[in-house]
Amino acid sequence: MAGFEPATGVWRRSDDSRYDAVSIMADGTSNPACPPFVRIGIVLPVDRRASLDLRFPYGGYRVDGRTVGHARLSAHADGDGVAVQADGKHIGRRDRWHLAPVGGRCGEFGGEPAAGVAARSDVLGVIVEGCVAGRGFHWQSGHDVTLAGDLELSVVDSALMLVNVLPIEPYLEGVITSEMSGECPRAFMRAHAVVARSWIAAASERKHQSLGIDFCNDDCCQRYQGTAAVTPAARSAVSDTRGQVLIHRGGAVVDANYAKCCGGITESGDEVWGHAKSGQRGSVDAPASDRMHAFARVGDNNIAEYVAASIVNETRAYCSPAVVPAEVAARCLGRVDDGSTHFRWRVGYRADQLVDILQRKGLDRIGRTGSDGIAALRDLRVTRRARGGRAIDLTVEYVDRDDRHRSLAIHDQYWIRHALHESFLYSSAFDVRIERDDHDRVLSVELIGAGWGHGAGMCQVGALGMALQGFDHSAILAHYFDGSSVDAHGGHT
Ligand SMILES: [Zn+2]
Ligand SMILES: [Zn+2]
Repeated sequence: MAGFEPATGVWRRSDDSRYDAVSIMADGTSNPACPPFVRIGIVLPVDRRASLDLRFPYGGYRVDGRTVGHARLSAHADGDGVAVQADGKHIGRRDRWHLAPVGGRCGEFGGEPAAGVAARSDVLGVIVEGCVAGRGFHWQSGHDVTLAGDLELSVVDSALMLVNVLPIEPYLEGVITSEMSGECPRAFMRAHAVVARSWIAAASERKHQSLGIDFCNDDCCQRYQGTAAVTPAARSAVSDTRGQVLIHRGGAVVDANYAKCCGGITESGDEVWGHAKSGQRGSVDAPASDRMHAFARVGDNNIAEYVAASIVNETRAYCSPAVVPAEVAARCLGRVDDGSTHFRWRVGYRADQLVDILQRKGLDRIGRTGSDGIAALRDLRVTRRARGGRAIDLTVEYVDRDDRHRSLAIHDQYWIRHALHESFLYSSAFDVRIERDDHDRVLSVELIGAGWGHGAGMCQVGALGMALQGFDHSAILAHYFDGSSVDAHGGHT
């Protein structure tokens, strides 16, 4: 297959939709018992970390050949290298450190447990303090992560970089319990595992190759916050679907994206990214007779009706509060999420607040500064929407500091969400309400919106809703992806 070939493994197509993941060992032989390893960036140069603290509470680790038990390890950027202390004692400075669990990589990648610690891979590993989640998004936060497998420490662009090297299947256990929680229904977790594995196998988005990693640990790629939240149910959801990926009719792996909550209608990949992705289509995320089907195409004529909070009482869309009640969402969302699905939302600004945000984020984006800056906002208009109502093009009309009337065009749902919020707007499916004074000056702007995320591929909250209603993982995947199939030889619940 074209696509994913991590340094230590390959994927081989078998006779159905299953990809056999095979590791190639150092001596060139293959080991079918051991899936390929992925290299995940946990701390990136962009995080600008000068130091990192790691704890080894559960098992023995080898730090460049030296066994470290229950120590606290401190790493500091020191020129182009990393200086490392164990329990306060300097143990050396190297360009790159390799930390490996005692007991080898394959099968025992979590290391051997220390005396008195249960041999559970969900608690084995290294705790890394203060890792970033949600880089640049409205949910950005810092938290500790537990990592199993090998670690590499180095300095890139004068900042520390930490890479976790681990087999792909336990990596997926971490992904599905970081994106959502390990408390989700089994059918949902199985579907999520297949989608996340397909995205990896399709490998169309290799954003970090220059850093020598396969993926980062965050929403930019897929969330991976380590092993601490992995539950037995999550582990069996991954093993039940081991090797399964979505296959499009043409035989290619579906480049399966997903987003948190579509708000009722998912988008096709070509409208969100400007190019078609095989197997992805926009769809109404609701049963056949639902009210949502009245919005087969959301445009200027019906966006106000679509985003209205009152629709919550009229729809049983799979991601709606009628199907996924708030208390279920709070339990099933990822632990760095804010507990809400944002099925419908409102964000309001005074004119000067929005000018300030646009000035810093919208105008900087296209490099205008100085006298080109915004003196007063005149209008904010969505000039193109995708089928599900998401703004793809936005025009900002304003008076500049030299009193000239100007306009600024912002393209792409990502940059629109970036420009219209202090950190990041939930989605670009919004209606714009502008309040003006008697002289037609803008006083305030309110964005009334639907959903959270780019909206293409699987709606995570919708898939959760389908699982709550008893759909199995194959039915969930067939709802969100076109002409796709998983594991023709069973595996359904
Ligand atoms: Zn990334
Ligand atoms: Zn949805």
